[in-house]
Amino acid sequence: MAEPELVDVVVVGLGVGGEEVAGRLAEAGLTVVGIERDLVGGECPYWGCIPSKMMIRAANALAEARRVDGLAGSAEVRPDWAPVAKRIREEATDTWDDKVAVDRFTGKGGRFVRGSGRLDGANRVHVGDQVFEARYGVVLGTGTRPSVPPIDGLADTPYWTNHQAIEVEELADSLLVLGGGAIGLELAQVFARFGVRVTVVEAADRVLAVEEPEASEIAAAALRADGVEIHTGVRAERVAHDGTSFTVHSGDRAFSGEKLLVVTGRKAHLEELGLDSVGIDCTQRYLPVNERMHAAEGIWAVGDLTGEGAFTHIAMYQAGIVVADVLDHVRRMKGGPDASGTASVMGGAAGVVSAVGGSMSAGGSAAAPGSVPVADYRALPRVTFTDPEVGAVGLTEQQARARGINVQVGYTDLTSSTRGWIHKAGNAGFIKLVADADQGVLIGATSVGPAGGEVLSALVVAVHAAVPVSQLRHMIYAYPTFHRAIEDALRNLK
Ligand SMILES: Cc1cc2nc3c(=O)[nH]c(=O)nc-3n(C[C@H](O)[C@H](O)[C@H](O)COP(=O)(O)OP(=O)(O)OC[C@H]3O[C@@H](n4cnc5c(N)ncnc54)[C@H](O)[C@@H]3O)c2cc1C
Repeated sequence: MAEPELVDVVVVGLGVGGEEVAGRLAEAGLTVVGIERDLVGGECPYWGCIPSKMMIRAANALAEARRVDGLAGSAEVRPDWAPVAKRIREEATDTWDDKVAVDRFTGKGGRFVRGSGRLDGANRVHVGDQVFEARYGVVLGTGTRPSVPPIDGLADTPYWTNHQAIEVEELADSLLVLGGGAIGLELAQVFARFGVRVTVVEAADRVLAVEEPEASEIAAAALRADGVEIHTGVRAERVAHDGTSFTVHSGDRAFSGEKLLVVTGRKAHLEELGLDSVGIDCTQRYLPVNERMHAAEGIWAVGDLTGEGAFTHIAMYQAGIVVADVLDHVRRMKGGPDASGTASVMGGAAGVVSAVGGSMSAGGSAAAPGSVPVADYRALPRVTFTDPEVGAVGLTEQQARARGINVQVGYTDLTSSTRGWIHKAGNAGFIKLVADADQGVLIGATSVGPAGGEVLSALVVAVHAAVPVSQLRHMIYAYPTFHRAIEDALRNLK
């Protein structure tokens, strides 16, 4: 084994979160080693957000063309997957090559190492034959992988995860989707709009089970209108593959498809990271962190790994906090003032290093002025990019009631809003508001509609900044926008 090489910070896993942290710390002048075993950029650009949204863009174009009838004449639609696959290959992923991303990181001054990193004590990381010792700390951003349920027979079949679904060049005749969460529904609708016979099998009693029941209903109805068969409350017990098709068995029911896509959740793999060497329980589903992303002394974690929400915007938000906190830690170790301006007990103020004195514009909520921001997930937004889009922020009605909050709910149907009525075909949607009646503020909201994810932004501001409901009622909402329905929902709060 090689002698350990001393560097400032080691970042293990260069997905969305890790790459952001590693790049910004390198730009701040630290010696940063970034370790990635697969592709720099992680799941989002290669098998997640970006290619899936390109697929959705294409599928929605087909759906809009099919709505020409009755609105603007007639249109003949002949779906072709080839341009979608080409766009994903050429524009999104460079045929799953991360050269551009590696260059982006090294261009910021980072040192890139390809391989699997593993902790060996708080500040040592092994990768292949190399060992790095981190002077200031280690940041873990190793993300998650699909969590494949232990269903009898499944492991031996050539089932798909999101990777194969995104990489597909030629569509099958039929597709069975195990899991009716956000990813399952988005992909199911895409493939159905391209002519694939899609069946969704979901164990919970409704799809999109984490969102408001009204959202589940509308999403299910939209997918059914696209020809998707949806079966809820079905626990898959056995999977068989006969060489050409899959069958999922549940009691005396059976569902078949040429391909089987398993999207039943995701899981961090703590056991691979050597966390036992720092006394962390590796059997947990995620790596718990505090509000400054500390997992243990000298170890930070960022992104999906932390279990705070599997979204790119969470990884980026947490990355901002990690960057600020690591730089603060460096200053204090060098004996400079911490971010609140207090000189560290480790020495005088003389050691402040200008190289790390830069970027402090992290994400995170404002703590005391000048101090490192801390994470606040109250106004965590999430969007399922089905058509209609399902946008949500904060608590659902049920979550708020379970917390004993004095809840008021305001609901309005988008089809009865002026813009919804004008929009006509494809206008399904609603706004649902959840208010804390005692505080007089919104604590959650759902916005479903053709632009549900965009309309959501106003509601995120309201929840994030705790804007009084009385003020929201006296805002001016542009006519005739979809977001104007927020005013109707506010009027209906009771
Ligand atoms: C189909 C799909 C669609 C999605 N759509 C959206 C969306 O629309 N909006 C949104 O906000 N989010 C979306 N997401 C979620 C988003 O992709 C993730 O939240 C985001 O990628 C998380 O970033 P991360 O850095 O935490 O982890 P990842 O992107 O998973 O990156 C972790 C990296 O660590 C590497 N790694 C793991 N272990 C090691 C090790 N020991 N050593 C070295 N490297 C290691 C992995 O190879 C990987 O590259 C989607 C996900 C999927 C699957």
